[in-house]
Amino acid sequence: MKITIARTAGFCMGVRRAVELALDASNRSHDSIYAYGPLIHNPQVMNILADKGISVINEIPDSGSGTVIIRAHGIPPDEREALTSAGFDILDATCPKVIKVQSIIARHAKKGYAVIIVGDRAHPEVIGLLGYAGGNGFVAETMDALTALPKFDKAIVVAQTTQNTVFFETVKQWAALQHPNYKVFNTICDSTENRQAEVKQLSSEVDAVVVVGGYESGNTKRLFEIARDAGKPSVHIETEADLEISQLGNARHIGITAGASTPNWIIKRVHGEIESLMVHNGRWLRRWLFALQRYLLLSNIYLAMGAGCLTCAAAMLQGIKPSFLYIFMAIFYLLCMHTFNNLRDITSDRYNDPDRAMFYQQNRMILSVLTCISGIAAMITAYLMGPLFFMLTLCMSFMGIVYIISLAPRQGNSGIQPRIRDIPGSKTVFAALAWGIVTSIVPALYGFGQIQSVTILVFFWAVSLVFVRTAFFDILDMQGSRIVGKETIPILLGEKKTMRLLKILSVLSAVILSLCSAFQMVSTLGFLLSLCPLSMFLFLNNYKRNGFSSGLRQGFFMEGHFILAGLLTIIWIII
Ligand code: SF4
Repeated sequence: MKITIARTAGFCMGVRRAVELALDASNRSHDSIYAYGPLIHNPQVMNILADKGISVINEIPDSGSGTVIIRAHGIPPDEREALTSAGFDILDATCPKVIKVQSIIARHAKKGYAVIIVGDRAHPEVIGLLGYAGGNGFVAETMDALTALPKFDKAIVVAQTTQNTVFFETVKQWAALQHPNYKVFNTICDSTENRQAEVKQLSSEVDAVVVVGGYESGNTKRLFEIARDAGKPSVHIETEADLEISQLGNARHIGITAGASTPNWIIKRVHGEIESLMVHNGRWLRRWLFALQRYLLLSNIYLAMGAGCLTCAAAMLQGIKPSFLYIFMAIFYLLCMHTFNNLRDITSDRYNDPDRAMFYQQNRMILSVLTCISGIAAMITAYLMGPLFFMLTLCMSFMGIVYIISLAPRQGNSGIQPRIRDIPGSKTVFAALAWGIVTSIVPALYGFGQIQSVTILVFFWAVSLVFVRTAFFDILDMQGSRIVGKETIPILLGEKKTMRLLKILSVLSAVILSLCSAFQMVSTLGFLLSLCPLSMFLFLNNYKRNGFSSGLRQGFFMEGHFILAGLLTIIWIII
């Protein structure tokens, strides 16, 4: 059984930009913020925006204050002027691709061309485009409407950016045959074209297709029509709650695609729902393995096992004989901190990782006990190692708690308590440093009694692995982080730059470790362990090529790099 998520599923560039602008504005400003018309055709996202204090206005009042966001579809120029005259500041989220169509229309309208827009008359984008036609614009929704239009001496034909590509091809043929003097501009957005082409291809490869998106979203409806016309069982759902697995027949390979206004977290929920329904209907062994994998991953036990493996590898790399004491100290300390963090992060996980949020809500008590037991176990292990390690673990635990919970008094009337975690990008950096200390510095202090030059090198290797892993998950969580106002590294740098940074760091880490191994600064284990950052690089490359993916497997694979370090160390010892 297999689930394939379309590479193009989810927010297109224009919608993502509009939602990000709106969320950033709401996170940074205390002024009133309005969206002029629903920002996107997705009720779940609109509810979140309402929770963030962004209300919708459908009419322009005579006077007002605050900021008005113009949605990705754009608006006619006279409405823009009316908003400014009413006293609003404008935050223009019109998609650059829509702006391009607006300028084509404005340029030709000025030269006396009639403007024919092939699209839905009532769609806000078409209403906006019509405003640029200088009173000489016509909308055609069907071929009949198009052929019924008067003959123009000179005219241009443009398409609504989300128009059906097949229909527009027919329009182009009609214009070439009947009106060769008309200038035709294919203004269908490539995001729409690619999405439609991919759903066509996907439909030929899978047994059934699930199309996710608002019931009012035109582009989602078109995706559903394409999938249905391909002859495969297809359903259009808004959220996972609408899914009836029986509608998909006995499908063994299910494809998921989503409209341009569907956020990632809804696609993740749908994927999770289908995955668990498929597993539920499968054999007992598969059910059991799935449940075990899920439990190990969500409870952070798998991550803690990885911490133990990484510590063992880092010790051997420094030429220190591994000791169960610091390996267990790393396992318990990191298990405690990560689980504590997840317990405090349920709100953002509702968007970033709905399955995790549900798991933490359902098992809050057990996980709280697990956090306490692992914290106490870390302290006991550190105590057994000596006073220095006990004090170090105590300080790090204190820092970990202060990082998550503010101990500072509330500020003024705002009631805000400053926290270290509110420092932009701090989470990824602090997590990597904490891992670096427990996996590399602690074994060095325990084994050598001091930090040596090789320790610095191994510290860099361990920190870079954890940094890449954490920042990668931050990339997956960007939409949810924006909603809850978290400023992670990908939000500060952008997805592309962060991805580039992670790739450079992975390659650098692999090259440095290999060179150090070649010049005998570390043992030949360095050659083997450079495979971990190299594998991360390949993973990032593959993610970039294949785009959106979800589910347990991805998390399991990324976290698995620490386990890989442990396995490679064991292989090296045996060889
Ligand atoms: S579908 Fe294309 S034109 Fe429309 S908002 Fe998205 S990127 Fe922009």
